[in-house]
Amino acid sequence: MLSKNYYTGGCEFTHWSRRHVLRHCRLRPIDARAGASMSIAVVSILPGASPRLGPNAVARRRVSRGGRQSSAAPIVLRAMAAPAGAHVSGAPADLSDDAVRSMRDEAVSWAAQHGLLVGLESDESGRAMCASFTHAPMSLLPTPFPRDVFELALRVSPSFAALSDAVSRDDEFLRTTLAGVVKTDDFTRRIWDIYERCGGQEGRHPMELGILRSDYMLDEPSGLPLQVEVNTVSTSFMALSTKVGEMHRHTISHAGLVRHYADEDEDEDEDLEKDEDANLDDEAKLQRVLPLNRALECAADTLAAGWRAMNDDDAKILFVVQPNERNVFDQRIIAQRLWTKHGIASIRATLREIDANAAVDQTTKRLTYGASDGRRDAISVVYYRAGYAPTDYPGEEEWRARELLEKSSAVKSPSAAMHLAGCKKIQQALAQPGVLERFVDDVGECAEMRKVFAGLYAMDGEEAMEAVKLGLENPGAYVLKPQREGGGNNLYGDELVAALKTYDPAASPGEPGDLSAYILMQRIFPPSHSTLCLRGGELVRLETLSELGVYGGYLRVGDAVVMNEVGGHLLRTKAATSDEGGVAAGYAVLDSPLLY
Ligand code: ADP
Ligand code: MG
Repeated sequence: MLSKNYYTGGCEFTHWSRRHVLRHCRLRPIDARAGASMSIAVVSILPGASPRLGPNAVARRRVSRGGRQSSAAPIVLRAMAAPAGAHVSGAPADLSDDAVRSMRDEAVSWAAQHGLLVGLESDESGRAMCASFTHAPMSLLPTPFPRDVFELALRVSPSFAALSDAVSRDDEFLRTTLAGVVKTDDFTRRIWDIYERCGGQEGRHPMELGILRSDYMLDEPSGLPLQVEVNTVSTSFMALSTKVGEMHRHTISHAGLVRHYADEDEDEDEDLEKDEDANLDDEAKLQRVLPLNRALECAADTLAAGWRAMNDDDAKILFVVQPNERNVFDQRIIAQRLWTKHGIASIRATLREIDANAAVDQTTKRLTYGASDGRRDAISVVYYRAGYAPTDYPGEEEWRARELLEKSSAVKSPSAAMHLAGCKKIQQALAQPGVLERFVDDVGECAEMRKVFAGLYAMDGEEAMEAVKLGLENPGAYVLKPQREGGGNNLYGDELVAALKTYDPAASPGEPGDLSAYILMQRIFPPSHSTLCLRGGELVRLETLSELGVYGGYLRVGDAVVMNEVGGHLLRTKAATSDEGGVAAGYAVLDSPLLY
């Protein structure tokens, strides 16, 4: 029998198993008034699933979306939903308060035992690590996410890694695309200046080492994962996203919920699957719906591949970190994996410490770092976990350090060029007709990549006027984004209107009225879920939206791409009322996908 919390207790579907519905339908509450005893859901049958529905299963009240009538058309049904807010998406409908409390205790305990932790604010500012911790902000249970959307996002991941690198190697494209941004945005200009002062493409290191992450939100109207952005620098949570998936698997099995999550199947149509199921143990059954995440392995393996390619056995990997870093275990777990799996040692330093203690040999360009005990470490790989935002450069010392690292012979993850290739302006330019095609030869590959592009509009040149008009006509349908990373910078609603109203086509770059440092983006509307969010030991049930990140591990040596792997995933879940989505910035919790 169906769980009420999928909004599908209506007569049309009562003989379906929960898993059957999860697999073949996309569920969306369209009216879940607080306290109401009924709600309405739209259920769309996933393409290709209709033959398995059986004659009795298909609702008679099939309606068309956008005037079309097809087997994939959504079905509107009245669902016998529980009062809004009284359920947790994906979880059993009858989860008691006691069971939830006990799962919370288990989850927090697991987090402490396995390093699923973040630092607390401390007064040791300036130190590279704080020393008091709490569990990472996390959802208590995984959140339903469509399998086909997940798989498409994974499939295109290597294409986006290769694309970012190809863009980073195209001086002319970088130069023309970023011309307006470089004039108006101080931060991007300074990264650009470092790229140029270190010799542009000719002076560039022959290797590129990428730990990238492409972020998506499920766009409900189209059913596609639309790309929010591509991160080419300082992508975080490869360790903690892996841990949160493990924690969910543990908490579910510890609470005796494996059958609910992975095994519930009462439909006679699925005899074959039942037989297959019989041979699987609980762990394997859970893995089918809660996919293993190899993000941590990928981070360590990618850095190790770069280190090996540098062929310098005495050298270490330098983690460039923020002073008083709070996301310290996410980094240290990777460092430990590098040591235990690959025998590679690493050190940590802030940009300011690098300015004070690092040196580059004039002739060989070899980078060394002098520790306070007089030891000098050779460095062959620089891994940035800082340096992506203006706040990371409070003084000239930090900029000097960034340039010193760039001009050294160590391979950087990423190079200044790759950092620039991750600018939002580049993302917008690539979505223009014919531009992606300049970098990707394969027509089929281009088509898959274009599937995930959201509408993106330039705020400079001739198109700006049209974009301003679009935004002002329908502000709720767009987001105005500056060239910033790290969350909290985008403009929505009234702020977007206020900014667009200042637009003056005659304004010179950098003057009031010039918006060339921004891009306008179609606002993505993902389905909402009900999630138990856990922060500082406190559980709060929230209506939420999720964002999927897919990591990529990439290594190019000269012209040879020696590694380009899908590097695992990250699900971040935030309150539906919050526009922004960063975990570290305090907007979201770490989550894992429950595939259906
Ligand atoms: P940042 O570099 O600051 O992470 P993002 O482009 O990722 O910038 O935007 C921050 C957050 O804003 C995202 O995590 C997402 O929650 C939200 N967001 C960004 N773009 C969109 C969009 N087009 N539609 C809906 N939400 C968006
Ligand atoms: Mg982001």
